[in-house]
Amino acid sequence: MPASLVARGARCSVLEESGERAGARREAAALWTELTAGAWKVTRGTLDTYLKELQAWAPDVALPARWEERMALAAAAEWAFGEQAASGRAGLLIDGHVVSVSWRREGGAWKARLAGPSSWRALWGKLERDAGVVLRLADAEGRVIHGHGAPRGSNATARGQAAFRPAAATGLPWSVTATPVAVGASSDPWTARRRLMFAGLLVFAVLLGSGSFLIARAISRELAVARLQSDFVAAVSHEFRTPLTSIRQLTEMLARGRMANEQQKQRAYELMMGESDRLRRVVESLLDFGRMQAREYKFRSESVEATEWARSVAEEFEETVRSLGYAVEFAGLAEGARIRGDREALSGALWNLLDNAVKYSPDEKQVRVAVSSSNGKVEVSVRDRGTGIAKEDLKRVFGKFYRGANAKKQGTKGTGIGLATVKKIVEAHGGTVRVQSEPGRGSEFTIVLPCDES
Ligand code: ADP
Repeated sequence: MPASLVARGARCSVLEESGERAGARREAAALWTELTAGAWKVTRGTLDTYLKELQAWAPDVALPARWEERMALAAAAEWAFGEQAASGRAGLLIDGHVVSVSWRREGGAWKARLAGPSSWRALWGKLERDAGVVLRLADAEGRVIHGHGAPRGSNATARGQAAFRPAAATGLPWSVTATPVAVGASSDPWTARRRLMFAGLLVFAVLLGSGSFLIARAISRELAVARLQSDFVAAVSHEFRTPLTSIRQLTEMLARGRMANEQQKQRAYELMMGESDRLRRVVESLLDFGRMQAREYKFRSESVEATEWARSVAEEFEETVRSLGYAVEFAGLAEGARIRGDREALSGALWNLLDNAVKYSPDEKQVRVAVSSSNGKVEVSVRDRGTGIAKEDLKRVFGKFYRGANAKKQGTKGTGIGLATVKKIVEAHGGTVRVQSEPGRGSEFTIVLPCDES
């Protein structure tokens, strides 16, 4: 036992006994560092005894890094030194650590080259990367000392995709199995199955999500159409019932001789004429709408003088609403401009716009029709100072059966097919229809048609 080591140990014990705890701890830690760095040549037994003793004074004294590996290296050197042969090489497994040693005696000297687990691991890693294989090393008892994966005899080996060398064939202390990386990856049945399952789940989730979305959308559309249709049926019934009731009452009064004089009778006839005319218009608009939806409506093609045509429609319309206090102002700024198309159908479209202008202007009874032409186009606009259209309704008023919030709120009569018909007629003539409106300030609908240049 080296005297200086004994003295250093005794110093720790003196410091401890005289109550200098911190000094003892410092001294013990310093002694341990020097001891494990190889300052004294001692046996393993001595080292273990010192470790226990020093830990009693300094509990934080611990084994240095890679201690186990160093001990395995030392054990391998000791073993090789004890061998009789003048030279040799061997691979050893010491406490599960891979160590190789090659030694030679030369004259009075003994030389050895040792490689421990970390050198081997680095070597195997490089080998695996360079050769594109996965290595699996197992000792005689079958314990894996490097790598993992399918053991010998598994599918990969059976199919001959992995190379196996037993310890006896190589002289190494372990058996080697090398599997190509790509084969190793794809031959793992669990990974492949998991991937397949995941893909299946993903497809299922996507199908379920899109299916639910489509079903929800179809249901909501069906509901909206059903609602529109029932509203439409109610509106049409109402449109028929009102004039029919008036006609029925008037004819009854006439038949029972309740009209006292000619003047009253004349008035009754006029009212009946007006009501039956209204009925005719409702029926015609429904029939036209149906024909246009089925694309069965045959448009005539004739040359029409735009200002004259619009003026005559406006005047005819004014006749029917004058008694209700409405006035239709006309501004014709397109003298001579002509359009080509079906005069009757176009008149129906303009009439619809005028009818709406009156229907949705219960207080402001002034409607303005203006005709102008520029850049090969004729524009016919109908402006009112009525209720106007809510912003969210603006985009939808040209849709079939659609009735705006203002119509429902005021209980205005209508079927929701007027503007859809206007749009169909105008588009069939190669034109467009647009709307500008502000709630409370009125609306302006404009029909734009191409000029007839011929
Ligand atoms: P309706 O039979 O309901 O009048 P339309 O297709 O003619 O059907 O019009 C669709 C909707 O557009 C109406 O319900 C109404 O809300 C709105 N609308 C149309 N014209 C006007 C207008 N001149 N002023 C205000 N709202 C209008």
